[in-house]
Amino acid sequence: MAKKPSEKEEECFARMEFERKKKIQEEKHRRLLAEEKKKLAALHYMRCPKCGLELIEIDYKGIKVDKCSECEGVWLDAGELQTVSKLEQSALECFFDVFKK
Ligand SMILES: [Zn+2]
Repeated sequence: MAKKPSEKEEECFARMEFERKKKIQEEKHRRLLAEEKKKLAALHYMRCPKCGLELIEIDYKGIKVDKCSECEGVWLDAGELQTVSKLEQSALECFFDVFKK
C-alpha cells in the first residue's frame, strides 16, 4: 500500500519541481538578448498571461491586484500572496468579495 505523502513532503516536492523548471527557464533567459527582453516586456506589460487581454489594477489595502478584463483571472506581484495570507479573517472575506467573479 502506497504511503500518502505528508504535507511537508508535498511542499518539498513542489519546491524541487519549481527549482528544476526555474533553472531551465533561467538558461533560456540567458540566451535572450537585452533587446528581445525589452520587446517582450513592452508586448506583455499589463496583459493577462492566460488570454492576453488587458489587466485592470485594483488597490485593496495597499495590495495591488491585477484582474483580467476578459477572463477575470487574478494576478499578484511577488510577495503579495504572503501579504494576502496575513489579512485578518474579515478583511480576507472582503478581499475575496472584491475579486470574485
Ligand atoms: Zn485573461
